[in-house]
Amino acid sequence: MITLDEALAALKSYARPLPAEEIAVLKSYGRVLREDVRSPHAIPPFDKSAMDGYAVRAADVAGASAARPVLLTILEDIPAGRVGRFRLRPGAAARIMTGAPLPEGADAVVMVEDTEAAPAGVLVKKAIATGANVAPAGGDVARGARVLAAGTLLKAADLGMIASTGRSTLAVATRPRVRIVSTGSEIVRPGRALPPGRIYDANGYSLAGLAIRWGADVRFLGVASDRKGALERKIARAADADVLVLSGGVSVGDYDLVQGILLELGTEQIFHKVRIKPGMPTFAGMRGRRFVLGLPGHPVSCMVTFTLFAGTLLDIMLGKREIGPRRGRATLAAPLRMRPNRRKFLRGMLREQDGRLAVEPFHAQESSILTSMVAADVLIDVPDGVAEAAAGSLVDIVYL
Ligand code: AMP
Ligand code: MG
Repeated sequence: MITLDEALAALKSYARPLPAEEIAVLKSYGRVLREDVRSPHAIPPFDKSAMDGYAVRAADVAGASAARPVLLTILEDIPAGRVGRFRLRPGAAARIMTGAPLPEGADAVVMVEDTEAAPAGVLVKKAIATGANVAPAGGDVARGARVLAAGTLLKAADLGMIASTGRSTLAVATRPRVRIVSTGSEIVRPGRALPPGRIYDANGYSLAGLAIRWGADVRFLGVASDRKGALERKIARAADADVLVLSGGVSVGDYDLVQGILLELGTEQIFHKVRIKPGMPTFAGMRGRRFVLGLPGHPVSCMVTFTLFAGTLLDIMLGKREIGPRRGRATLAAPLRMRPNRRKFLRGMLREQDGRLAVEPFHAQESSILTSMVAADVLIDVPDGVAEAAAGSLVDIVYL
């Protein structure tokens, strides 16, 4: 049986980024940027007043105090959006509003609160440093600088940043088409009555949620019973998939038909069975240039394997800079004991303990316990061969 790293390496060797498409910046939240974005101008583009007050030459008011205010004559008013007409000569000031460009010759802004109106101009009651209350040109972004790199998953601030460069459209990855099928003769679609001996579908719904979170174009194709014809019909309906994800029926039971049918339909197997728990029976293959993942039916196994395998595949297709779920380290809040036979992914909850990040394992780790995924923030990644881990030891975590 291959290791997780071998399985992931095999999967990666088949995966390629999907093409990019040009879309409106306003629609790009959660998409993956596929170009480097540079600013053709400095941001801000000019020395900009950060206050309502008076644009001055700092040297003119160097000796100013409440007891000995300095009188400056006022040349003009500069509201935001307008450029001043006059150059400040010594002894002069311009009334200026927040966001307005500093007039030529000025090098600082005195706040209104530090001034007093006078018949012949304005009295400045406080000395200020050169550059005070001014947001300098290029102080945020230098002209020509790269503001975002290709492969970035776009968040709210990124949209604002791109818009600030003057762009209204940008190139993002097309959404990978993920098609999902739940398999099992016991599985019933929610919304219908539950006959004896049957259970409602959990996997189709958790997987749809994960795929949406990953930025995919998702369609849930419903439930197929453990019969050849039913499975083939669902697989045929997924003809447009970049990634077809099936759950259930990939073990070695009498009714586990998924792998056999996929191979019969000409799927090239990448791997079947990985030394991990949960998720050992996972199948991965390719039909033409489309990926097929057969994930184990237990609701936890199914979500964990989607996160590890489909997550990696989708990140590559999207052209993300960082491939695979985010990882980190945390202090174990309670001791762990397990059979040292496979690499484990245990469900854990994060909390702060003595100012450090601690992870507490969920009390029930069976792969049928979906409440463990509901409660979990992370998976605790325990290497193959480890039988116990002491409370207080550092462990690897995978963020969900
Ligand atoms: P299988 O991988 O088909 O052997 O299924 C393993 C276990 O997961 C069985 O107990 C199934 O009833 C359960 N299971 C399979 N598919 C689903 C599903 N879509 N939702 C909830 N449980 C499932
Ligand atoms: Mg089954």
